[in-house]
Amino acid sequence: MRVDLIVPCFNEEQVLPLFWEEAFRTVSEIPGYEFGFLFVDDGSKDRTLAILRELADEHPEVSYISFSRNFGKEAAMFAALSHTKADYAVILDADLQHPPALIAPMLGAMEEGYDCCTAIRSRKGDPKLRTWFSRKFYQLMNRISDVQLKDGAGDFRMMNRKMIDAVLSLQEVSRFSKGIFSYVGFRNKEISYENVERAAGTSKWSFVKLFRYALDGITAFSTFPLKFAAFMGGCFSFAAFVYLLVLVIKTCISGIDVPGYASTIALILLLGGVILLCLGIVGEYLAKIYTEIKRRPVYLIGESRLKEREPEESGPEED
Ligand code: UDP
Ligand code: MG
Repeated sequence: MRVDLIVPCFNEEQVLPLFWEEAFRTVSEIPGYEFGFLFVDDGSKDRTLAILRELADEHPEVSYISFSRNFGKEAAMFAALSHTKADYAVILDADLQHPPALIAPMLGAMEEGYDCCTAIRSRKGDPKLRTWFSRKFYQLMNRISDVQLKDGAGDFRMMNRKMIDAVLSLQEVSRFSKGIFSYVGFRNKEISYENVERAAGTSKWSFVKLFRYALDGITAFSTFPLKFAAFMGGCFSFAAFVYLLVLVIKTCISGIDVPGYASTIALILLLGGVILLCLGIVGEYLAKIYTEIKRRPVYLIGESRLKEREPEESGPEED
């Protein structure tokens, strides 16, 4: 059985040697499997690619794909899953926040007959505000979407061939992996681990980026916001109709009175705001349709070395 470790790397020169050392040592101690490393350099500006080249020169089990620019972690994972030929693939971060020590228990789960084994991290040491927003996001997402996401379940998981092929069969361009993994289903085993700090370097995720990612996730797996817009429209129309009736009856009974200026302005502002909000929601989906329909490639490869398939493969290539 072949197991590929899939590692997206974006400006990870500081931590990559540490990762390699620990991951390589860990998998060497697991008997009975053949391990390969598939690194994806996501358009790093530092020495990440140079380090990967050296590793690939020295070690037959190391392959890498290098993007022409930064396409994001989702693209990196998709590229690696598309290229791996292994029976099992496990996705790990390069910063050692995903302990390679969990690979052995994950393989154990695979042997038990599971198709996927997901590592659930605790939120120990995370900023309080971020944890709060994450909790709320998961609650909202689970209520309004067709997928169930688990707080703390990230991309750190092992999958068998059946599951990898299913994940790849979802062909959307803007990919929200947490949702995709949940959407495809299959037998999943969860194992927990304590949150660990990044070994070196800095996180690539800002709060704004995370917020944008959460919105992407919602629009990718739920049409609830659109229904909510329609629902609000319905409520306001109903209220307006009732108010109209009241006005007509009042006018018949006590004649026309001079309406208030403040209430008129307040209503105009309120309705204007609601209309813009709904337009914005529709716009989000429109934007999503627009990016999907262009069918642009999820990533572009600048250089790659994939062992066991072709001995050497270089130069620009589309995928
Ligand atoms: N990463 C990537 N492309 C990006 C951003 C991040 O491939 O545009 C990789 C990064 O190198 C790391 C993993 O995704 O291996 C997780 O990133 P990071 O540790 O910065 O995120 P955090 O752990 O803070 O959520
Ligand atoms: Mg990290």
